[in-house]
Amino acid sequence: MKTIVFATNNRHKLEELRNLTSGKIEILSLSDISCHDDIPETSDTLEGNALQKAEWIKERYGYDCFADDTGLEVAALDGAPGVYSARYAGEGHDSEANMRLLLHNMEDKADRSARFRTVIALIEGDVKKLFEGTVSGVICREPSGKNGFGYDPVFCPDGYDKTFAQMDSDLKNSISHRGRAFKKLIDYFNL
Ligand code: IMP
Repeated sequence: MKTIVFATNNRHKLEELRNLTSGKIEILSLSDISCHDDIPETSDTLEGNALQKAEWIKERYGYDCFADDTGLEVAALDGAPGVYSARYAGEGHDSEANMRLLLHNMEDKADRSARFRTVIALIEGDVKKLFEGTVSGVICREPSGKNGFGYDPVFCPDGYDKTFAQMDSDLKNSISHRGRAFKKLIDYFNL
């Protein structure tokens, strides 16, 4: 069976991908390979950060590997917070503060359109590939819902009258940026 490292320790992402691949491929996390490095993410693009993480693992640990990076891109804010989504309100990675700042910056904006975009960088041998998944929607005027994480309470995907935080994880995963990027990766693996 094919073995590959997913450069994350996020158990929700690992579980989502392991469910989608139903045991046809062995997916190892960073802790599974005893990697406890603080892997740098210093690029100003999602593509750059995803590649940086995958290259770190391939070069130091030798495993074929993929890594993901996601951002929320808001049209009226010229694509912000984008690659800086996790630390929009500062280095604390505080989701509540990030959401508050986003709603504040959007107060006078009529165009509420936004999208989540996930980029996955895969390195197999010396082949490098990028996969992208996006979901378009709007930024709500106030948060709703308790599920999910990050900006979920203020993002309402097109075609739905509820936020990601008001959906169960199966529905969210079936239409989300990350779900769509994962599906492209799985199609590439031919699983
Ligand atoms: P990461 O690259 O998956 O760590 O995502 C970076 C940041 O984007 C997170 O810290 C969140 O703020 C935001 N984000 C990523 N995915 C989602 C999502 O599915 N819902 C809400 N926010 C997300």
